[in-house]
Amino acid sequence: MPELRELLFLADHLDGLGRVETLANVDYQGTSFPLIALSFGPDDPSAPVFAVFGGVHGLERIGTRVVLSYLQTLMELARWDRCIQRMFETTRLLMVPLINPVGMMLNLRSNGNHVDLMRNAPVEAEGLSAWHLFGGQRLTTRIPWYRGIEGAPMEVETQAVCDFVRREIFPAKLAVGIDIHSGYGVVDRLWFPYAKTRKPFGGVAEVIALKKLLDHTYARHVYRIEPQSQEYLAHGDLWDYLYDEYNTIQPEGCFIPFTLELGSWLWVKKNWWQFFSRIGLFNPRLPHRERRILRRHLFLLDFLYRAVHSPEPWSFPDISRREQRHRRGLELWYGE
Ligand SMILES: [Zn+2]
Repeated sequence: MPELRELLFLADHLDGLGRVETLANVDYQGTSFPLIALSFGPDDPSAPVFAVFGGVHGLERIGTRVVLSYLQTLMELARWDRCIQRMFETTRLLMVPLINPVGMMLNLRSNGNHVDLMRNAPVEAEGLSAWHLFGGQRLTTRIPWYRGIEGAPMEVETQAVCDFVRREIFPAKLAVGIDIHSGYGVVDRLWFPYAKTRKPFGGVAEVIALKKLLDHTYARHVYRIEPQSQEYLAHGDLWDYLYDEYNTIQPEGCFIPFTLELGSWLWVKKNWWQFFSRIGLFNPRLPHRERRILRRHLFLLDFLYRAVHSPEPWSFPDISRREQRHRRGLELWYGE
C-alpha cells in the first residue's frame, strides 16, 4: 500500500521536527496495521491546535495523499522557514493521515469488519427515513454505510481517533479540524456540523467569520462552505459526536471540525471510463490530475493553520458582534 509506505517513510525522517505515535494497531487476517499520528509544536495540550485527518474511507485514497502532501511540505518548511518555526512555538499541528489502513488495502469504504467509520459513532440523526441507506444502516454488512451492531463498542479505528481527540484537542480552548474525503458532487465542499440535524450548530458565528477571512484572503478559492446537513443527513457521524462532547467539557471554547469533501464527479465527467472502476469514482486517475489535486488544497490547510495561529479576526469577538455574525450565518445557511 503506497500510502502507508509513504507515511512510514515520512514518519521515519522527522529528525526531531515533530513526534510520531501509534494510536492503535488494526489487525486483519494475521497482519497488524499501525494507525499513526504525528504532532508538531508545543507539548501543552491546552495550546491552540489545528488537526488534519484522512483515510477514514479506504476507497478515498486521494484524501490520505493530500494529507501526506501537506506533511511533506511542512517537514521541509520546518527546516528553513522562520515563519513556520515561530508558529510551532505556540500553535500545535496534528495529523492522522490514514485512519482506515485495512479499508485502503482492501479498496473498501468500510474497515476490515465492513463497518463505515463515519457512521459508527453513537449518534442518531433526526427524521432520517430508513430508506436513506447512505445515511447509515444496520441491515447488512453487504452494502455500504453499515453502522455496526447497535450498542456494540466502537470500532478500533474510531475509538482510537476519539481517544486521541479527547486527549489532544479537548483541553484546547481553540481548535480547528479538517477531515478529507472524496466522492460527492462536482465542487469541493467544506462542510461543518451537523450531519445529524438541519438545526444550526453552535459555531456558526466563527465559521462565517472564517469564510469571510478565506473569501478576502484567497478571493479565487474554489470551496463551497456549508453545513453538511444541507446536502444530506447521516447517523453516527464521528465529528458530530466529538463536537457535542467537546462543548460539554469546554463550553467557552471553540472547536470547528470541518470535512473537506473533494468533488470527484468532475474527474469522472472528464474521464467517463472511470465510472466503471470503483477506485475511479473516488480518486483522480490521471497523473497530471492527481498532481493538481495534491497542489490545489495545500493553501487551504496552510490558511487554516494560520487562522488558528492568528485567531483574532474570527474567534471570540465581543458578544454583540458574535450575535450579529451568528444571525448572518443563519440567513445564509439555514434560511432564517
Ligand atoms: Zn468519505
